[in-house]
Amino acid sequence: MMHPNRLDTISETLLMGPGPSLVPPEVYRALSRPTIGHLDPRFIALMDEIKEMLRTVMGTRNEVTLPLSGTGSAGMEAAFVNLVEPGDPVLVLVNGVFGTRMVDVASRLGADVDRLDFEWGTPVVPEAVAGKLAERSYRLVAVVHAETSTGVRNPVEAIGELVKPTGALYLVDAVTSLGGMAVEADAWGADVVYSGSQKCLSCPPGLAPFTVSERAMERIRSRTRKVPNWYLDVGLLVGYWAGGTRAYHHTAPINMLYGLYQALRLILEEGLETVFQRHRQAHALLVEGLEAMGLEMLVEPAWRLPMLNAVKVPAGADEVRVRRRLLEEEAIEIGGGLGPLAGKIWRIGLMGHTARPESVERVSAALKKSL
Ligand SMILES: *Cc1c(COP(=O)(O)O)cnc(C)c1O
Repeated sequence: MMHPNRLDTISETLLMGPGPSLVPPEVYRALSRPTIGHLDPRFIALMDEIKEMLRTVMGTRNEVTLPLSGTGSAGMEAAFVNLVEPGDPVLVLVNGVFGTRMVDVASRLGADVDRLDFEWGTPVVPEAVAGKLAERSYRLVAVVHAETSTGVRNPVEAIGELVKPTGALYLVDAVTSLGGMAVEADAWGADVVYSGSQKCLSCPPGLAPFTVSERAMERIRSRTRKVPNWYLDVGLLVGYWAGGTRAYHHTAPINMLYGLYQALRLILEEGLETVFQRHRQAHALLVEGLEAMGLEMLVEPAWRLPMLNAVKVPAGADEVRVRRRLLEEEAIEIGGGLGPLAGKIWRIGLMGHTARPESVERVSAALKKSL
């Protein structure tokens, strides 16, 4: 006898954690379109439109702009594995979990990694970066735009201006920011930017938008040894994603790409500025409601992310129990703190389709009831 179908137990949860975010019905419908072949001309045409839409949301004219098969971490892995060779001096700016993860990824590749740490909940300070850059010549400098673990926005544009004259490659993680606030890869002088499908793009997890500058592609082409990862080798991937004849590399996740295609269309139809404003408004409404309840935000107003709100757990509240109650009784998911912030904050996501007044009202009412 087969067990009862587990899928029947899965009903909609209001996703207000650090991702995944709510998926719009149009994207669910897109995912269920018939699967076709990965070299079918209709599919190639769809791929080309995805690349073009990604260029628009990522603020770039980079030829090499494509979604990788994998989550945001595949984007991170791809960025380092293609750009870094053993012994390369790399500087990682760390003020949260994802900066820490970059240090791990770069170190595993044999890079000579320096890390510059900032207190979690505060932004990277450009003056400190300038000091570090004056001490040593780096092959690559890496930073997270929107630090999902703390709710901090980092000054990626100012850091880019410091990196540029040094000749180092500039890597920016835009996993949480893309589709929720302006990402301007070219204007920032970023050489590689990656993201994930399940945060502000509001597609299920599984794809990592990725862009590489021509300057970085030249560095990749002049590597002294092959990229030590076959699956994420950008040089091989462009053989499938670009050019007049497309060669099989790995089977593209066809239906996931339908989903991303539709998610990008929705964002561009609404208009990037309107989408960003919707995020800012939902954020303002949430902060207002939380502060009215006597709750405090972790991050200074100037550095708060609209799509990830870190709220201090008030004295006497049971952090885990509140989250469990929200999930079980109200079907609302929020996140807890990580690392040094574990038990100290909740992380309330307002990402993509979730960033609406209705979500804010539901989570505020539920929190009020639980506290
Ligand atoms: C979520 C996230 C990642 C990792 O993405 P996954 O999709 O979980 O692999 C990397 N960087 C940041 C800033 C993130 O928020």
